[in-house]
Amino acid sequence: MATAKKRELELKDFPPGTVTEYTTLVCLACIFNIFTKQLGLAPRTAFTEIKRHAPTIEELTSRGSMRPYFDSEEKHPHCPYCGKPVRWLARFDTYCIEGGKSTDAARRALIKKLPKADDQFLVIEKKSDSRAVFFDWLDTLGRSLDLNDESWLVDATRMYLERREPKTNWDEPFEELRAVRRSSRLTEGWERDGARLFLAPNLYSEALLIQYLVSRSHTHGGTTLEGRLTLMDLIRRLRYYGYLDNIGITEREPGEVFEKLIDHLVATHEWSNYRTGSGSDRVTGAKKKAKKAAKKSSKKSSKSLKGKAAPPELTTTEPVKLHYIVDRRDFLEKVKSVYASYAG
Ligand SMILES: [Zn+2]
Repeated sequence: MATAKKRELELKDFPPGTVTEYTTLVCLACIFNIFTKQLGLAPRTAFTEIKRHAPTIEELTSRGSMRPYFDSEEKHPHCPYCGKPVRWLARFDTYCIEGGKSTDAARRALIKKLPKADDQFLVIEKKSDSRAVFFDWLDTLGRSLDLNDESWLVDATRMYLERREPKTNWDEPFEELRAVRRSSRLTEGWERDGARLFLAPNLYSEALLIQYLVSRSHTHGGTTLEGRLTLMDLIRRLRYYGYLDNIGITEREPGEVFEKLIDHLVATHEWSNYRTGSGSDRVTGAKKKAKKAAKKSSKKSSKSLKGKAAPPELTTTEPVKLHYIVDRRDFLEKVKSVYASYAG
């Protein structure tokens, strides 16, 4: 929609993967219809009521919307219920920000800047936990990828690394990248060599896991950089790479191993938070060094990631606060113009 662009909120201060955006359309003809025909309100009263309308978070973020809400990818959408064209339709943009050390300051600054009048923006907090947040992230990741195009494997690897290590500028290691491989030399971090990116076994294992989770189906396993793998294949590899030992998984039964793997990913989902504090200076130092090294030889650069394996005793879920920002500006404008056409 034409007005959409200039209305986008400025989100560049948030680490990748910490903000999820949702757009939902609502048909004002359908809403006015409900208020005037079904509830028998006069248009003026209906207008006052509708202006106050605040959809629930579920209505704004669920993938299968209910009347009068709907999703549309079309440029000129129509209401799927009554067929009304775009001037009857209003959009809500909803931003879900994951609470935590890496986002708190940016979120406060953003909310401070939002216009306050007429409830143009709503800010709603919701309690969640690290497991739900992780699976939401996976779901959003999966939807942003085209699994029929093989390059998704590299894209998924990058998105995982961005989430794990948001302070690194991943443009450089991924520039004109042809392949991602497991390093037999590195014990942590990554190394770019020519058109290939080598990941330490732990990082590589987690990249495989993410790919598996994004693409798995009940019958065919999942697709990874190592080809199509069943759960058994995947576990065998992760054991061989030393990943299972590294994160302290001693179980043998595949179902149990899988559960522990998920626990581990979930527990370290806020990788950035794990690594703030004492380690942050060293990260900066390493970055500077890496830059220098990169200048010397443009083909090779290496850096170590901190976020090592979690301690053997695994945490299952941690509480996470989600902060929803609902942009009602388009809705308020459209309600006004639609009411004008009713009243006129
Ligand atoms: Zn409609």
